Amino acid sequence: MMKNCYSEACEYLVGGVNSPVRAFRAMGREPIFVARAKGPYVWDTESRRYIDLIGSWGPMILGHAHPKITQALRKAAEKGTSYGLPTWKEVELAQEIRRRFPSMERIRMTSSGTEATMSAIRLARGFTKRERIIKFEGSYHGHVDSLLVRAGSGAATLGTPDSAGVPPSFVATTLSLPYNNAEAFKKVMNEQGETIAVVIVEPVAGNMGVIPPFLEFLKILRTETERHKTLLIFDEVMTGFRVAWGGAQELFGIQPDLTCLGKIVGGGLPVGAFGGRKEIMELLAPLGPVYQAGTLSGNPLAVAAGLATLQELRRPTYKILEKRGAFLQKGIEKKAQEAGIPVICQRVGSMLTVFFSEKPIHNYEEVQQTETQRFARFFNALLDRGVLIPPSAFEAWFLSLAHTESILKNVVEAIGESFQEITQNL
Ligand SMILES: *Cc1c(COP(=O)(O)O)cnc(C)c1O
Repeated sequence: MMKNCYSEACEYLVGGVNSPVRAFRAMGREPIFVARAKGPYVWDTESRRYIDLIGSWGPMILGHAHPKITQALRKAAEKGTSYGLPTWKEVELAQEIRRRFPSMERIRMTSSGTEATMSAIRLARGFTKRERIIKFEGSYHGHVDSLLVRAGSGAATLGTPDSAGVPPSFVATTLSLPYNNAEAFKKVMNEQGETIAVVIVEPVAGNMGVIPPFLEFLKILRTETERHKTLLIFDEVMTGFRVAWGGAQELFGIQPDLTCLGKIVGGGLPVGAFGGRKEIMELLAPLGPVYQAGTLSGNPLAVAAGLATLQELRRPTYKILEKRGAFLQKGIEKKAQEAGIPVICQRVGSMLTVFFSEKPIHNYEEVQQTETQRFARFFNALLDRGVLIPPSAFEAWFLSLAHTESILKNVVEAIGESFQEITQNL
C-alpha cells in the first residue's frame, strides 16, 4: 500500500497544500499528488497518468519538462543559483519581453505575479499622487491586500471573494465594477475620474473562467483613463505570451500604461515582471521615490527558463495553438450537443473554460449562475478517464504545444463519455 500523501500532508501543511485551489475541496475529493510530468502528461504518486489541462495554471505552454528548458536550467544551475547582483541574461529577457510588448519601455522583474501587480499599483499611485483604484468583479490579480475585493480564482472557488485579515481601511480605496460593462465604468469615471489613480484589468478575464472582453469595453477603459489622467494596467500575467505573441494588447490593439506579466515569462519557475512607459517606470527606486525590491528578483534559474521559453514561442506558434484550441472547442460543443447538455465553451486561443450554462457568460454575476455541482461531477468523471482539468468551475484550462491533435482527440472522447455519465445519474 502506498502511504496516503494527503492525510500526511495535512499534518504539516495547511490543508495539505501550498495554494488553496490545489486541495480540490470544491470537487469533493482528495487532491492528486504529482510525482512527475512530461509533455502533456502528469503522473500521480501511484503512477496513474493524466492528460494535464491545468498546465501549472498557465506557465507550461511548451508542455512539461521541455528539453530546451531543462537544458537551460542545468546549464544555469552549474554557474550558481543566485547572486543578488545583475546579470546579462536579465537584459536579454527584458529585450525579448519588449520586442513583444513595445509598451513596456522599462521593465522590473519580480518573483511572482502578485508582486508585479502589487508593485504596479504602488507605482501608479506614486505617479498620479492619487489613492483610489478600480478593479473588476471576479478578476484576480494575485493576493494583494487591496485587490482581494470580489476576487476570482481560488477566492471564488472557495466562496471567499473577500478575505479575512484585510482591514477595511486597506480596501476602502478599491472600487470593484462589473466586467464588460462600459456604461457602469464610464459613469464612475465621469463622477470620480480625477480621484482614481489606476484601473487594473485582465484584458481577457481568466480567473472566473475564460470571459473574452467586449472590444468596446477595453476601448472605453483606454479613452476614459486617458481623459482623466488615470493610469491603465493590463494584468497580462495569464494572457501574456498566451493569447498572442504580443499578448492581449497586441490582439486587441490597445496599449496600456503599465503591463504585469508572470506565469509563462518564468517558464515554470517563479517569475513576474511589470513595465510600461519610461516616465512612469523611472519613478521606481533607484531612480525615483517609489520603493520596490526583491532578493531573488531576476534569479538566474528563473530567467534562464523564461528566456528559453520565449525563444521557443514564435509568431507562427500562435497559429498552431489557435488551431488546437478550436479543435478542442468544436469537439466539446459536438459532444455536449450529442449528450443534450447545455454547455458554453468560451475560448481565446489556447485558454478556455467549459461553463454549464445555456447562454454565454460576460461577467461575474453570470458566472455565479452556472451549475457548479454539475461541474464537480464532470471533473471527477474526467479524472476517472485520465484527463485532468482545473478543480474549479471558475478557472481556465490551458493547452500546450505538447497537446497534439491526437492527444486532444482522446480528451474529446473522454469529455463525451463524461457528459453522458453526468446526464445519466442525475
Ligand atoms: C496568476 C495570476 C496572478 C498572480 O500571479 P502569482 O504568480 O500566482 O502571484 C495575477 N494576475 C493574474 C491575471 C493571474 O492569472
